[in-house]
Amino acid sequence: MAERANAAVLTAPRMFEFREFDIPEIGPDEAVLRVEAAGLCGTDYEQYAGHLTGTPWDMWDIIPGHEIFGWIDRIGTDAAAHWNVKEGDRVVVEAIIPCGHCFQCAIGSVTLCQSSLGYGLYKPVSDAPSLWGGYASHMYLHPKALLHKVPSDIPADILSLFNPLSNGVRWAYEEPETTLGETVVIEGPGQRGLLSLIAAKEAGAGKVIITGTSQDAARLDLALQFGADAVIDVDKENAVERVVELTEGRKADVVVEVSAGATQPVVDAVDMVRPGGRIVLAGLKSFKPVPNLVTDKIVINEIKLMGVLSAGWPSIEKALDILQRRGNELKPLCSHMFPLEDADKAVRALGREFDDGTEVVHIALDVAGSG
Ligand SMILES: [Zn+2]
Ligand SMILES: [Zn+2]
Repeated sequence: MAERANAAVLTAPRMFEFREFDIPEIGPDEAVLRVEAAGLCGTDYEQYAGHLTGTPWDMWDIIPGHEIFGWIDRIGTDAAAHWNVKEGDRVVVEAIIPCGHCFQCAIGSVTLCQSSLGYGLYKPVSDAPSLWGGYASHMYLHPKALLHKVPSDIPADILSLFNPLSNGVRWAYEEPETTLGETVVIEGPGQRGLLSLIAAKEAGAGKVIITGTSQDAARLDLALQFGADAVIDVDKENAVERVVELTEGRKADVVVEVSAGATQPVVDAVDMVRPGGRIVLAGLKSFKPVPNLVTDKIVINEIKLMGVLSAGWPSIEKALDILQRRGNELKPLCSHMFPLEDADKAVRALGREFDDGTEVVHIALDVAGSG
């Protein structure tokens, strides 16, 4: 058992430093996680590039990594009882540590907790016991952390999809209340778009259509491989007209907008959803306004429009169930695994700052497999 923890600490934009920390002494209601892997998403890149200035997550020196899983390394007796886990158990750790007391926690909206306590984005290493992120051999488990026990036979690369898949579950199934036979359009074939497709199909959607640009050709092919009924290249075809055609004029019951940066998909969503349909907005646009958005169309057609950012406990449980049943089908999404010492390379690969010849879809840091 290692006496010290190794961590990749982000000390300034684009600056990782490898440091050792003491593994904390734990009380009865705490634990230490031996990190197995940490998945990466766009937020990891934004954090690395220094783009979180002005947000609550603007802090240095910090151990990134908020899509975390590993094994219980040591645990206090009370913690073992309330989490129902023991040393050696494999667990997924949620990024947010809800306080349990604020207004949002009180009404059950745990993902909107106002406490700003959590992993990878919320606490600098100067806050004891320092180990607040997944880019490290060990992580501190706070008494209020949320854990999910997971079976040992899901491969690490597949399990690292739990976070984006839980987003897909919430965005394409839970929030729009997608039901059997409905038509779902997903705008944007990134990892979250493709996993929204999986979730929509699991929900019983009859027809799932995915849109993307010509640059997304490889991802649109993946979408077809994962059971999409049709894909639309918006550079070559009019997305709205195609959706009208594919639904024989009925339009979509649900549109999930997961594209990054582009605003036209929001405008298109309003035109491709049926009257009374639901639009879920999940793609961030760097705070740009959306030109040509006519809200009267939303009013007249009684369209339900909702914004989503993350996923909570029930969505993660459903994602873990999907990974257990059919995780191996999702293998083609797991394009890259890097050891902890290559954290810098991993984040830059995610930001498409270099090309190793393999299309980047989902990246994880394989911490346990690191030398
Ligand atoms: Zn993330
Ligand atoms: Zn709270």
